[in-house]
Amino acid sequence: MSNLFLTHSIVGREQLTGFEFHPEKPYRFCCICGALFQDEQQRQITPDSHVEDIARATIARQEWAISHAKTHTEKEHEQLRMSGRAVTPEAAMRLVPYGISPLSDMVLCDEHEHAARTAPRLPQDDAEGKLTTHVGFSGVRNKA
Ligand SMILES: [Zn+2]
Repeated sequence: MSNLFLTHSIVGREQLTGFEFHPEKPYRFCCICGALFQDEQQRQITPDSHVEDIARATIARQEWAISHAKTHTEKEHEQLRMSGRAVTPEAAMRLVPYGISPLSDMVLCDEHEHAARTAPRLPQDDAEGKLTTHVGFSGVRNKA
């Protein structure tokens, strides 16, 4: 079964200061805890971006996902797999304020629907990735 996510704008975003996450730019999130990754290079990606910049940003997201996955136990990964859900209710509660709603989970599971309905209206913090720590490519292209 494929899982459906609805991405939407962050209502009240203009009230947030120093908040840099953009749901329309590339990001990765954790399906177990809802942690989000989007560094500055993700936010600079446009349809006209150079293929190397897109590759570098893709690798950074992948590296974050691999590294972050290790912060959860094998049991946590297994529990999510066995649930048949895309994300945990905890992740749903964390993601909805960022404009990421796990639609199929919300429709099929009361616990997810409740989590999404009672989630904070605005994000409580920013996505991870304020410091780029990716490896594999050196240097950052300067665009005038
Ligand atoms: Zn996590």
